[in-house]
Amino acid sequence: MTELISVAEAEALVAQHMPRFGSERVALERAAGRLLRQAVHAEHDHPPFDRVMMDGIAVRWHDPLPREFQLAGTQLAGMAAQSLDSGGACLEVTTGAVLPGGCDCVIPVEQTRREGARYLLLDGCRPARGQFVHARGADCPAGSLLLEAGMRIGAPEMALLAANGVVEVEVAAVPSVAIVSTGDELVAVDAPLGQGQIRRSNDVAILAALRLHGFDRIVRHHVADDGPATRALLADLLAAHDVLILSGGVSVGQRDYVPESLDALGVRRVFHRIAQKPGKPMWFGAGPRGQVVFALPGNPVSALVCTIRYARPALLASMGMAAGQPEQVRLDGPVDASELLTCFVPAHVHSDAQGSMIAHAVPSRTSGDFSALPRTHGVVQLPPGQATAAAGDVVAFYRW
Ligand code: AMP
Ligand code: MG
Repeated sequence: MTELISVAEAEALVAQHMPRFGSERVALERAAGRLLRQAVHAEHDHPPFDRVMMDGIAVRWHDPLPREFQLAGTQLAGMAAQSLDSGGACLEVTTGAVLPGGCDCVIPVEQTRREGARYLLLDGCRPARGQFVHARGADCPAGSLLLEAGMRIGAPEMALLAANGVVEVEVAAVPSVAIVSTGDELVAVDAPLGQGQIRRSNDVAILAALRLHGFDRIVRHHVADDGPATRALLADLLAAHDVLILSGGVSVGQRDYVPESLDALGVRRVFHRIAQKPGKPMWFGAGPRGQVVFALPGNPVSALVCTIRYARPALLASMGMAAGQPEQVRLDGPVDASELLTCFVPAHVHSDAQGSMIAHAVPSRTSGDFSALPRTHGVVQLPPGQATAAAGDVVAFYRW
């Protein structure tokens, strides 16, 4: 039996052995949800011209401002700039139009009345110089850094990419992942349940934990507690995938074949067993081609905790996601912890009136009990060294 290593050591060892996944160029419309692997700078000033912000009239401001203006033409959005040479005249403008030359004030149409070829200002309308003009470059000048490598491309990032003429985007390539559940007692979701059998659920839970973060190259397999069958399947999967995530068969049961099968296939054990609960039996290794194997304990809470605490963050970091600190939350009451082990406890979180995140722990009775997890948002990480974490303690929080 190997020594237990700490959560921090396990995290660091995983990081050391992760391959760096490549990048690829995709068409803009396929970039949503992907991880950006390039910087994006402003193609031009934003806005690129002094932009009219209201439908109305554009005039040249002076003091005192006349109360009526002669209509000299119309400047619609999309037209090249016209100009106004007389202070007593105006141009009709629409939102998004270039501010006509010689104008520095836009008066909304609702504050005017048109009479033939004249616009009169309504009583109470007191225009200010520069009003409703969005000055060229006011949002950002040409060349400003808008997006950095490592950001997730969501709706706002898509808008910026499009606005700056990025037709092809450099994004992280998505690694190919195989998920394998092991166990003689496990049957498929649609199979009848016999004596001593349960449905397998870890594979779909792990799949979801990854897919919701953009991993869409995932296959799933199941293998019985059988040495040769385990070896044969893992050999095939190691040849075809970058990452293997196994569940079950890593403890010391007489039919736990995963560590010895991986060993026989040249996957070097980096560690086995972490000083944590749940998830203590986790095994991690590196294959001959740089593949990585996360072999997680089979208990559903353990498998999911290890996926979100180790496998998913490591994969995202290897894809170039900007490293962020884990969320910090404050416990709203005491929670059982351990002198020796880091404890991961399911919790739901909310923010208080000051905007700090508060966690309410919902301890699972066992690492096999996942019935209460759907009402939680993730797990708090309680460091070892204390039998009880106190109300008010600030701890790391990992989302499902
Ligand atoms: P193991 O790590 O193989 O000893 O499994 C620990 C416990 O988790 C056993 O009670 C298994 O039946 C259960 N288990 C293992 N794999 C799964 C799975 N894919 N879905 C649901 N339960 C599982
Ligand atoms: Mg098993």
